[in-house]
Amino acid sequence: MSGQTASPERARVFFALWPEAALAERLAALAEAQAAAVGGRAMARETLHLTLAFLGDVPLETLPALQEAGHLVARQQVMHHVFPLEFSLDHFGYWQHNHLAWIGCRTPVAALHGLADALAAAVGERGFALESRPFVPHVTLVRRAPVAPPCREEALPLYWRATDFALLRSRRHAGGAAYETLARWPVEGSA
Ligand code: ATP
Ligand code: MG
Repeated sequence: MSGQTASPERARVFFALWPEAALAERLAALAEAQAAAVGGRAMARETLHLTLAFLGDVPLETLPALQEAGHLVARQQVMHHVFPLEFSLDHFGYWQHNHLAWIGCRTPVAALHGLADALAAAVGERGFALESRPFVPHVTLVRRAPVAPPCREEALPLYWRATDFALLRSRRHAGGAAYETLARWPVEGSA
């Protein structure tokens, strides 16, 4: 969340799962209800995602190496029949330290952790450093939530069927971050 100066030679990038329209719609409705209840800024529907691996600020010339890592992992995952990757969001959470309200997985999802681990390994082999923070699968719903919003447990679980993952560029502005898709895998016919 700390501010980083935008630089033409660098990009802030991460790998993530992006929900399909119907799931994004439901998540956005939950985010809006939570923000209406306690305040904070609901994530816009088109920005809702689940981060798999966060690279941070990298030189632009390293983007091909990240694309190569994504491609390699996609091939491995397709070979191991990981996609479609099906799991459930079964838990509402709140982090006091950064005032984020989120929805995530209480039940561990081996394939999701496997995908995050594979990405971490592939980028690590190419010299990128990831933070050693443990992977906590979650979708941020509300930023700057002053307290934990009331949980709408009756809305759970939310089923997610992910057919691909993406490499995103995050561009930050006053209202939050906008994300640009740099690549998506598996690309149809590439496996
Ligand atoms: P902003 O920080 O401008 O409020 P944001 O957090 O959505 O917006 P980024 O900070 O660019 O945008 O982060 C992109 C994604 O990567 C988000 O899902 C964020 O939670 C995640 N992320 C950011 N920093 C880390 C980190 N150090 N480790 C793991 N994931 C991270
Ligand atoms: Mg952030």
